[in-house]
Amino acid sequence: MKTAELSEKILSGDRRALARAITLVESGRDDHRVAATELLDLLAKSGRQALRIGLSGTPGVGKSTFVESFGMMLVAQGLRVAVLAVDPSSARTGGSILGDKTRMEQLSRQKAAFIRPSPSQTNLGGVARRTREAVALCEAAGFDVVLIETVGVGQSETVVAQMSDLFLLLLAPAGGDELQGVKRGIMEMADIILVNKADGDLKSAAMRTCADYSGALRLLRKRPQDPEGYPKAQTVSALQEAGLDSAWADMKTLVEWRQDRGHWSGTRAEQARYWFAEDVRQALLARLKTPWAQGRMTELSDQVAQGAVSPTAAAQEMLKGLGVAG
Ligand code: GDP
Repeated sequence: MKTAELSEKILSGDRRALARAITLVESGRDDHRVAATELLDLLAKSGRQALRIGLSGTPGVGKSTFVESFGMMLVAQGLRVAVLAVDPSSARTGGSILGDKTRMEQLSRQKAAFIRPSPSQTNLGGVARRTREAVALCEAAGFDVVLIETVGVGQSETVVAQMSDLFLLLLAPAGGDELQGVKRGIMEMADIILVNKADGDLKSAAMRTCADYSGALRLLRKRPQDPEGYPKAQTVSALQEAGLDSAWADMKTLVEWRQDRGHWSGTRAEQARYWFAEDVRQALLARLKTPWAQGRMTELSDQVAQGAVSPTAAAQEMLKGLGVAG
């Protein structure tokens, strides 16, 4: 299919065309990359934007249950919801793949919903770019909300936060010591902490955990772009669909505040800068990974070790070989 035709179909909301385009951006083939870039350029002209919500949490905390019930609530409000995932671990372990349709049975049957599992790539940089491009495709396809889910491992939260307008951290109720378990950096990224499983026997523990996190969040510096009371923590029960409407109301309050004051577009502009620099870094790193480059690195490195050439001169030589010397 021609790129222009694919673009038209995506703009008209054709889900198969969207799925096909995501496969195209996920492909590592050079000719696919050219077509993907062309497609993304064409679609960017539509200017359509969705609310991008990042969601992180350790396995078992209830992410897929939350996405299912929160997604269904949004769909019931007439919104179109896309679910994407960043899960570099799945490729390595072959384990559960986030965003798997079987985990969100109801939502995956909705016409107004689109669920796409994480691309199988071992390298986080690669997953990041593909997911970011998939987000752009979903926006062009007219989705109102794009949920980007990730497991709480390694750098994946940072990657998701850098492509989200809002970042949610999902936690489970726990004993008092657990607060130490959440890295400060991750808490700092969160706009809203949701303590899930606030139901049945777990309800009081969830409320205690929530109070602990509210206290911890108050100690963090308030962000200049946010209203009083944010970032905030609150309890939800994804299973019983409790607290989801108030969480959504809080998200909308925050988003409207940022939009009214220009912080929304400011953050997106900063994110665009970040991804530009990141793409350059990734492309340079990729050049170092070719067989030629690796062989040459070994050769030059041996010469440096033998004292035949200085590290600086060898580095210059290497860069020249890569075609990036100044
Ligand atoms: P994920 O690994 O983060 O995607 O977590 P899942 O959504 O698969 O949920 C893990 C387990 O927690 C499942 O057994 C869910 O039924 C359960 N769970 C999820 N949300 C809730 C909730 O709100 N309340 C209770 N009690 N259990 C929940």
